[in-house]
Amino acid sequence: MSAATIPASDLVRRRSEVPRTAFHLLAKPTGAICNLDCSYCFFLSKERLYPESSFRMSDELLDAYLTQYLESQWGPEITVAWQGGEPTIMGLDFFRRAVAMAEAKKRPGTRLAHTLQTNGTLLDEAWCDFLREHRFLVGLSLDGPRALHDACRVDKGGHPTFDKVMRALRLLQAHEVEINVLTTVHAANADHPLEVYRFLRDDARARYMQLIPIVERDNDTGFQEGTELTSRSVGADQYGRFLTAIFDEWVRRDVGTVFVQQFDVALASWAGEPHGLCVHSETCGAALALEHNGDLYSCDHFVEPAHRLGNIRDRHMSVLASSERQRDFGRAKRDSLPRACRECEYRFACHGGCPKDRVARASDGEPGLNHLCAGYLRFFRHIDPTMRRMVQLLRSGDAPARVMFERAGRNDPCPCRSGKKHKHCHGR
Ligand code: SF4
Ligand code: SF4
Repeated sequence: MSAATIPASDLVRRRSEVPRTAFHLLAKPTGAICNLDCSYCFFLSKERLYPESSFRMSDELLDAYLTQYLESQWGPEITVAWQGGEPTIMGLDFFRRAVAMAEAKKRPGTRLAHTLQTNGTLLDEAWCDFLREHRFLVGLSLDGPRALHDACRVDKGGHPTFDKVMRALRLLQAHEVEINVLTTVHAANADHPLEVYRFLRDDARARYMQLIPIVERDNDTGFQEGTELTSRSVGADQYGRFLTAIFDEWVRRDVGTVFVQQFDVALASWAGEPHGLCVHSETCGAALALEHNGDLYSCDHFVEPAHRLGNIRDRHMSVLASSERQRDFGRAKRDSLPRACRECEYRFACHGGCPKDRVARASDGEPGLNHLCAGYLRFFRHIDPTMRRMVQLLRSGDAPARVMFERAGRNDPCPCRSGKKHKHCHGR
């Protein structure tokens, strides 16, 4: 049944009846379909969920999605987020229609923030003109310099993709499109933190970065089942060493000019401020995923039958998002914490990490500990004094970036970027 033929009585149509639950949505117009074949991609196996599907969001569903989504959101700024698979496979015209529809449907006085996560390989001038015109924030996947990127990010023929992604990056930059570089941290690049970071900062000229750990279950279903992990997954301590090495470089020279999501989130946690990253929030469940056919799932990482909330053709997404089932999903993140986490001194910053990664056992044998725990602990212990100092600076009205002058070594470049050594400049 198409959205256009849904009896009005089946949907909560009137705005006054739409539950006011704050949530964010990642829409997947091509479902799991992607033009690449990255070895660690958790989403490619989801193709099997819809064996007969064309994997294209219809215009009717697009209309229903945007109508319901914009009815559900109440802030002055509403984020409309596209993800995949690879969403650009839908073609530029689909997104032109989507933006036009969303702009026409939004409430007066609200502003739309459009985001697109892409591997970049299909972007061209026309795409970049469009992305710039509508001020999209583009999440571009780039795993580091050529060899480290190409270790996993290959196309269907197994060919490397580095050159295509760098071409897209330069094109986006030439068009002044805002970019957030998404770098997955996996077995192949995790032992090269500075090589990755310096490449992203100096060659890719990325100002916003996310360093996302790959923790991938090893099973035949592709669902979050079992406790075995693939050999591509990043090791716990390896991830901790990766983050701390980058943090040490960042804190000596890049505070305030390079924004690494993990460090921003940590600072917010130490300052007792909200940060919005579900992985390190006490509860979750406010970031849902919409499949190409209208199926709504609890989370992008749980697109599997047990976490399908329903279809937005049948029930308003706001009703599904505020359902008891979804609230249980979000609360389970907190309520299922093992004792090791409940008693952990860094619980305030970690909250046990993402439930999808909780495949390990604590030292007392209790299951449900995050695979990355040892890495998180290493990272949190390492940054603790610096975070405390940055919070102190913030509270006294100083710029946290001042910490660079306190942390830079005498032979490091001076954080003021004079080009001199610190000891011959501000470190004198
Ligand atoms: S399951 Fe993980 S990724 Fe999904 S919303 Fe919860 S913390 Fe976030
Ligand atoms: S650092 Fe480890 S023990 Fe502490 S909250 Fe995180 S996962 Fe739990």
